[in-house]
Amino acid sequence: MDKNSKAPAMQAFRESLRKHNLKVTPQRIAVHEAMLHLGHASADMVTDHIKEEGNTRVTVASVYNILTQMTLLGIYRHRMSDSNKMFFDVNTFNHMHLYDTTDSSYVDVNDEDLFEEIERKISGRRFRGYKVDAIDINIIVHPSTRKKR
Ligand SMILES: [Zn+2]
Repeated sequence: MDKNSKAPAMQAFRESLRKHNLKVTPQRIAVHEAMLHLGHASADMVTDHIKEEGNTRVTVASVYNILTQMTLLGIYRHRMSDSNKMFFDVNTFNHMHLYDTTDSSYVDVNDEDLFEEIERKISGRRFRGYKVDAIDINIIVHPSTRKKR
């Protein structure tokens, strides 16, 4: 599945770090490798993935700091999960998600036309007493056939 096909590849990631005067550290590289693999993940999930790979020493706190820093630089994007855990998204362009309730995972829906149509309709609406900060569209799903693990 090429769900992260638009994410910055490792070379582009290294260049982004240099552009922001950040060192290309093994920790930052390991986090990006994990994010390319996972697509959407919490700091815990990224940390577990790096530990499984076993080549880089990290803590959840250091991973969280890297994820947050990359999000502030616009390399990743924040995403809320239903458990109120902070998730990070390796894709920063506007897109919707399928949210699989069986394993709490996200899959990108890369249909910018549909997203823009929904966004345009919503941004024309007034919600009394509220201002819209962001539009985050999750389509709640479960697999129609058993997923291969
Ligand atoms: Zn996404």
